Amino acid sequence: MKILSVNAGSSSLKFTLIELPAKDVIASGLFEKIGLNDSCYTIKYNGEKITTNEILPDHSVAVRKLIDALINMHIISSLEEIEGVGHRMVHGGQEFSKSVILTEDVLERISKYNDLAPLHNPANIMGVRAFMKVLPNTLQVGVFDTAFHTTMAEKEFLYPVPYEWYEKYNVRKYGFHGTSHRYINKTISELLNRNDLKVISCHIGNGGSITAIDSGKVVDTSMGFTPLAGIMMGTRSGDIDASILEYMNNKTGKSVSELTNELNKKSGLLGVSGISSDSRDVEQAALNGNPRAILAQEMYAQKIANYIAMYNNLLNGADVITLTAGVGENSKTMRKMILDRISSLGVKIDEEKNDFRGELRLITTDDSKIPVYVVPTDEELMIALDTMELALKNE
Ligand code: AMP
Repeated sequence: MKILSVNAGSSSLKFTLIELPAKDVIASGLFEKIGLNDSCYTIKYNGEKITTNEILPDHSVAVRKLIDALINMHIISSLEEIEGVGHRMVHGGQEFSKSVILTEDVLERISKYNDLAPLHNPANIMGVRAFMKVLPNTLQVGVFDTAFHTTMAEKEFLYPVPYEWYEKYNVRKYGFHGTSHRYINKTISELLNRNDLKVISCHIGNGGSITAIDSGKVVDTSMGFTPLAGIMMGTRSGDIDASILEYMNNKTGKSVSELTNELNKKSGLLGVSGISSDSRDVEQAALNGNPRAILAQEMYAQKIANYIAMYNNLLNGADVITLTAGVGENSKTMRKMILDRISSLGVKIDEEKNDFRGELRLITTDDSKIPVYVVPTDEELMIALDTMELALKNE
């Protein structure tokens, strides 16, 4: 069956058309600058990449163009061939613990969490409504970034702040990248043929989070109320002392929202190195001896190592550690820097095995106390698999 996996942003729409259960990507693409004068869309199919410049006033027009293009390019012969559309939804609050069939009622319930993800949820919902309009008879499924983390216990998800912050205002840890961590857990559990694994899953890309999983259930995760918390990232600070905001507000006159924007967009690798949020640029500058690039890399690796050590303790000893996303899959330098900083856990990197990018592989020695695997993530596939499952149940 053919399933569309979709990620709608406020002015963009990314899609992957996947054949299941074969897991083959048939076509993929991106609609950009929706609502602006210079919008365009790119479709990749059969090794070719076709870009069309065309005004896309809103998401419904983009979806209509997408379906027309899929038919005109003979990728599908009719609308009915698409048996489901799976949508990446960022925030399902504590209510949505798994993927759901989307109806108007469900969209209303999801929109209650717009305050918690103001940049993402309204855009995700807009994307769903556009597909509902163009494909009214096709199953639409919502797959939440937060859902996998809803197994966290209160002692893990609560912040030690006045309890009414949680009761009245929903202030708690939600966690993100859940679809990726769930895919990684599924892949490593299948590979090692065990469903009782204690996994420390490290998603290290431009955004980054570490998740402690026991027998398929999240025990704790490093992102928090928002994706700003946890490890240092490309442009996000990760954990900092909350008092810095008031202090910097007094010192600079910048508002809390301006400062929060700087913590989200001007911090992390970019903030410390002053060079780039892209780990390739920082790596190159560090190789050239730039002291701030070296500092940024060391801080980045250390903060990830600290979370791994903490979660190893929480899990009372992990069975396996996994590395994924842009940096985890591709940067052998950063992988080595991280693993060198968890040698106290008995982790030993095998540098020869570590010399590759973008594949599922073991990178530790045979006598490493905890094996470490690189596992490429595939959130689009996970979204499509959930959609297929609900489509089959719904038949
Ligand atoms: P993601 O958010 O998962 O797409 O990851 C983006 C991050 O992955 C960026 O910081 C990239 O610099 C990093 N990345 C991608 N390819 C490489 C590579 N070959 N070496 C080092 N970092 C890489």
